[in-house]
Amino acid sequence: MSIRQWTGGELRLAPWTNEWVIVAPARASGTRETTGACPFCPGPGEDTPPERWRLSTPDGSGWRVRAVTNRYALSDHHEVVIESPQHGWDLTTATTAEVVDVLTAWQVRHRALRAGAAEVVVFRNRGEAAGSSLAHPHSQVLGLPVLSGVTARNVAVARDHHHRTGRRLVEDIVEAELAHGERVVHTDAGATAFVPIAPATEFETRIVPSTYRADFGAATLDELATAADSLRTVLAALRAVLVDPAYNLVLHTAPTTWTSAPFLAWHLQVLPRLTTPAGLEVATGIPVLTTRPEDCAARLRTALPVDAAR
Ligand SMILES: [Zn+2]
Repeated sequence: MSIRQWTGGELRLAPWTNEWVIVAPARASGTRETTGACPFCPGPGEDTPPERWRLSTPDGSGWRVRAVTNRYALSDHHEVVIESPQHGWDLTTATTAEVVDVLTAWQVRHRALRAGAAEVVVFRNRGEAAGSSLAHPHSQVLGLPVLSGVTARNVAVARDHHHRTGRRLVEDIVEAELAHGERVVHTDAGATAFVPIAPATEFETRIVPSTYRADFGAATLDELATAADSLRTVLAALRAVLVDPAYNLVLHTAPTTWTSAPFLAWHLQVLPRLTTPAGLEVATGIPVLTTRPEDCAARLRTALPVDAAR
């Protein structure tokens, strides 16, 4: 039996699946925002744990994006990125420069939290169905001392593909999607967004930068800008089609020991949360989708902002 002590609780390995489970009783004691002032809004009601990093406004008087310790931290390597001082700010209506600021914050904190971590996870929960308890726009960066089963499997599949073909799996997937065309949501010189052939949720969309690179931490500012543009476009289309859905946004990037792997490529995954997993999904991990991925992509294409039409 394997139990590893962690700052905020324990990591336990399930013997049936060899997958890690986090046990963190301390997280339940925090009462989340229900009434009163937002703790992330600047001003008298502001109430955040210590700041770790910030992007200042040009005159230095305030901040554009900041990273603070997560109040309900799973470990001392768990931070919240507060994406804007404005409570009503949204990725879909932000400027490209503002989205680049957020991706820059992810990148800086991703690099900072690597020490001692097997992988650094970056994600954004929006809406209660996606696990978000605070409306102020924010994302999270977490350094995990163990490699998750999902990441280990993703690495193994990509590595195997590279062994057999000498090619990068994500690059082959993008080429196949572009050749097929039916599931492509949006593509330009910088990135391609598509609904995967076998998505995990309805309207799942993957955004893959055209410069394939294992490590998100090494992406250039230009690469972040094209990814930011594509992300904004996809989220705007999802918002229009699904009327402001709850979603999880996940960054896929190389685990700490694989940052120069020639078979990996960092990219973004948006997972709308439209339904609750039921028995079959819980029993088998097999998603049941009632909308064809091809139809999801077609609907998203009709809702693209005008300046992003293919
Ligand atoms: Zn706020």
